Amino acid sequence: MCRHLAYLGAPRTLRELLIDPPYGLYRQSWAPRYMRGTGTVNADGFGIGWYVSDLAEPVRYRRAVPIWGDSSLPGLAAATRTGAVLAAVRSATTGMPVAEGASAPFGEGPWLFSHNGAVGGWPDSVAALASALPVRDLLTLDAPTDSALLWALVRARLRDGLSTGKALADVVGAVGAAAPGRLNLLLTDGTSIAATTWGDSLYHRQDRHGLTVASEPDDDGPGWTEVPDHTLVTADRSGISLTALEER
Ligand code: GLN
Repeated sequence: MCRHLAYLGAPRTLRELLIDPPYGLYRQSWAPRYMRGTGTVNADGFGIGWYVSDLAEPVRYRRAVPIWGDSSLPGLAAATRTGAVLAAVRSATTGMPVAEGASAPFGEGPWLFSHNGAVGGWPDSVAALASALPVRDLLTLDAPTDSALLWALVRARLRDGLSTGKALADVVGAVGAAAPGRLNLLLTDGTSIAATTWGDSLYHRQDRHGLTVASEPDDDGPGWTEVPDHTLVTADRSGISLTALEER
């Protein structure tokens, strides 16, 4: 299972956010502490998406190599400062390709998205749900993976005008009813974060820098709160709210 993280707050370098914390996302690629499900390391690619004030859309940097194998990243991360980021390290589910396009964050317009988990019975279990999408969306999936399809399902709802929280809850409800699996989703538009827990770990922390929502704590310091399973998290700079997700 992958690990992911979103941060909103005072501008910080990607190095401070991802690499420096003792148990941060960088280290979680080879030594995650709270991973459930099948994988043990997250070495099948990674991605970072971040917001820059004078650009209309977030920047995305994705690679198909383990995050520790990208020797250019530490320098880039030290030089890049942002107040909003979504990043992930990937452990590919059996049978799914290792490719740049299969690494989160997926994105369009202001949105960045990640999935931690796996859709059981893939692909047959969700073929009917996928068939409701425009053919063009299916032909242009970033990768033939469950996560890329989940992003297409979420994106269709965002394009229809649903809020980020409603879009995630609706997709988790529909996919959860169609297939057993783990559906920890994470979505940001650069000013708010929405996330679900459905079978894997998730924590949040509000500190003097800002708000972090992450698969696992990046240090043993105070302030980390575990999110109960089957919960929708919606948060922005003014606060965080948790809502139970019902099984359909
Ligand atoms: N099933 C997804 C993939 O293979 C996500 C994997 C994960 O959470 N480890 O891309």
